[in-house]
Amino acid sequence: MNSPLAGVDSPDHAAAIHPSNSVTPQRPGWVATITGADDLTRAVAEVNALAQSTGAALQVVPQATGHGAGAPVGDTDVLLDTSRLTDVVIDPAARTATVGAGATWSAINAAAERHGLLGLAGSAPTVSVCGYTFGGGIGWLVRRDGLASGSLRAVHYVDGDGRLRTATDDAPAQIDRDALWAFRGAGGVGIAHTLEFDLFPAPDLHAGALLWHVEALPDLLAAWSGIVDTLSGSVSHSISVLHVPPLPLFPPALHGRVAVHLAIADPDGPGAAGPLLHAMRSAATPVSDTWGPSDAARLASIHLDPPVATPAVGDARWLGASTPDVAAALLSTAAGPDSPLVLLEIRHTAGAPTRRSGALVSPPGDFIYHAVGTLDRSTHAQIQDGFAAAQDVWRPVDTGYTPGSWIDGAAGVPGALPTGTRRRAAAIADAVDPAGRIRRSRLLG
Ligand SMILES: Cc1cc2nc3c(=O)[nH]c(=O)nc-3n(C[C@H](O)[C@H](O)[C@H](O)COP(=O)(O)OP(=O)(O)OC[C@H]3O[C@@H](n4cnc5c(N)ncnc54)[C@H](O)[C@@H]3O)c2cc1C
Repeated sequence: MNSPLAGVDSPDHAAAIHPSNSVTPQRPGWVATITGADDLTRAVAEVNALAQSTGAALQVVPQATGHGAGAPVGDTDVLLDTSRLTDVVIDPAARTATVGAGATWSAINAAAERHGLLGLAGSAPTVSVCGYTFGGGIGWLVRRDGLASGSLRAVHYVDGDGRLRTATDDAPAQIDRDALWAFRGAGGVGIAHTLEFDLFPAPDLHAGALLWHVEALPDLLAAWSGIVDTLSGSVSHSISVLHVPPLPLFPPALHGRVAVHLAIADPDGPGAAGPLLHAMRSAATPVSDTWGPSDAARLASIHLDPPVATPAVGDARWLGASTPDVAAALLSTAAGPDSPLVLLEIRHTAGAPTRRSGALVSPPGDFIYHAVGTLDRSTHAQIQDGFAAAQDVWRPVDTGYTPGSWIDGAAGVPGALPTGTRRRAAAIADAVDPAGRIRRSRLLG
């Protein structure tokens, strides 16, 4: 039988080393292209045998899209390319999805919406279910239906010895019950090949993106701050300052300009978003306004995420209930034409329900601050200066917690989990993989 491990000269190797976040070049010693659970067990077993015979400290690194890439991947690492695990099966009666670990949210929700259902996808259609869900997963239905981690019912995974296991809340072995707790928000333990999660009804999905010239920022933020606390729990949104690239998804009038951007969605119809939309439209006339009836594809486009691999460096923080008091000043830090930040957003997560027990299944704050700079536009030092200027503003409303998977391009994320949660998750990872063969999630610090 052929080895599942492809060396640096193979086409599989060349194909796998282009992560969507291109901040850190990847140069793994080997790549294993995974097409099913058997490949996964064989690959891990082979890496264990190789490590034993050579004495090398080899590690396997699962990667579906590389949106969460940032940590170096070098010659003692084996990159497990899971992007071909794309099966999607919807059970409309049970309102569940069973999907491969490389499935993207666009594929999942395209299948789910045929039954009037949606999974708890985030802003970008190209993000995969794994890193997103295992990192908490904060999407456009968050305030009505909670974090994606809380929708996770089961994970079929492989441990450090290459054994197939199933993590459920009522698994016979404690280790599998613990593993599911860690998969729900602590970045995951072991290597997943299939996930099962809940889907949610979207009887009258409405969504849209509104864009204004940045000169309207003070009026828009005065309107936003006055109404955000009164919004119904079915409405989720982000408000941001955006340096608009010359891409067709933006109106030409804004190309090369700075814009204010409201992305907003409600699965239950247009009514509840009405007061916020009215206040914002009255404060200033938008340059473009796509609010209206929506399908899953349109929902996945309202955040206007770049469709290409990007050298993105991110910063993020969970912020408290008083965020509206600092929102205008916070967005202003990125509003100048020379700002090193291409995006600075605030997402509204207040009131999100908690569905199941897990490492991170409830928002630690009512809002998220998120900022991004790109290395093709600014230096690392300039971007860090942009984050520092923002931090001076958000510090008074800080919760002390970082939404780990929003720190684009980082190798590790200290502060993503409370100390006790992080220690418990790290102990579970050690129990699943005592030899440390599987690269630990960067959310574990
Ligand atoms: C444009 C864009 C928009 C985003 N929008 C949102 C958003 O709205 N809400 C939100 O919460 N997040 C958002 N994110 C962050 C996103 O959730 C993270 O980048 C996430 O890590 C991406 O998951 P992935 O599986 O696609 O990435 P990958 O880089 O493939 O994986 C990330 C990590 O997940 C783990 N992992 C991957 N596959 C497996 C596996 N099979 N088994 C075990 N562990 C595995 C590994 O630790 C891996 O390093 C966004 C990111 C981008 C780039």
